[in-house]
Amino acid sequence: MSAKILDGAALAQSIRADVAQRTAKLAAAGRAPGLAVILVGDDPGSTIYVRHKVKDCEEAGIRSTLDRLPASTAQQQLLARIRELNEDDTVDGILVQLPLPPQIDPFTVIETISPAKDVDGFHVASAGALMTGQPGFLPCTPYGVMRLLAHAGARLRGAEAVVVGRSNIVGKPQAMLLLQADATVTICHSRTRDLAVHTRRADVLVAAVGRARMITGDMIKPGAIVVDVGMNRDESGRLCGDVDFESASRVASWITPVPGGVGPMTRAMLLVNTVEAAERKQESSDGN
Ligand code: NDP
Repeated sequence: MSAKILDGAALAQSIRADVAQRTAKLAAAGRAPGLAVILVGDDPGSTIYVRHKVKDCEEAGIRSTLDRLPASTAQQQLLARIRELNEDDTVDGILVQLPLPPQIDPFTVIETISPAKDVDGFHVASAGALMTGQPGFLPCTPYGVMRLLAHAGARLRGAEAVVVGRSNIVGKPQAMLLLQADATVTICHSRTRDLAVHTRRADVLVAAVGRARMITGDMIKPGAIVVDVGMNRDESGRLCGDVDFESASRVASWITPVPGGVGPMTRAMLLVNTVEAAERKQESSDGN
């Protein structure tokens, strides 16, 4: 068997085109959506991510601003800037690029962002909304994974879904979304006793670990849909996922490549959340 490729780059492109249409509508009504991005310090990875986000916004017709603060920024100073942006009517979404320098507590920072502008979906209010099935912003990566699964025609109701990884930004919200879609969900982590026993039962397998090629073909159920969130460098410095693509693609029915799978979807879903934030604001002001 040779798996079909779940092409995140192509799907992301069509999502971005849809966002651009929604943005144009808002702009025609007098207010294009706005995203405020804050980068503290000059971590090379973060700098590249932020550059991508700003460029994506530009292409989708979303106004974006970038605050570049020095690595020595005091927490109070960052919180004060976030409060200003919370009050700024031209700003629909606020994104603080993580990780932050050691003197700043990321939890406090995220909690200071208004939940109405939490387009990363990391605020406790957003996590609580997801947990209880209320409307809120979904974290971009698991949101993108759900769109990929829909694109592959995955039948999630009653399916065995296994998520490897339990971080607050990927694994846990991913598991919750799969549960909402009526899958039977197992979450694995570093203390899971026999990982392969679980992964081999999965009709849908999502790997979000951060270990190069740790999921091999023999750990995958024939015909499974495999989504690889991992972004790692192998021994030769090449970008690769958590899944060993070569052996896994001989067993799975669908598989995401790395790069070109989940990564572009994560970027696209930030735009979706931002336009959504602007639409919600417009609806609430129309209703007043
Ligand atoms: P974290 O480091 O926060 O979480 C990793 C998880 O993997 C933890 O829950 C950990 O378990 C678990 N884990 C570690 N080792 C094992 C093991 N041997 N067996 C089973 N589980 C294990 O990472 P993130 O969730 O932030 O990211 C995961 C990966 O996804 C990374 O490669 C990251 O770069 C990538 N990523 C990609 C994105 C994209 O857009 N493509 C977006 C976000 C992340 P425990 O909790 O017990 O420590």
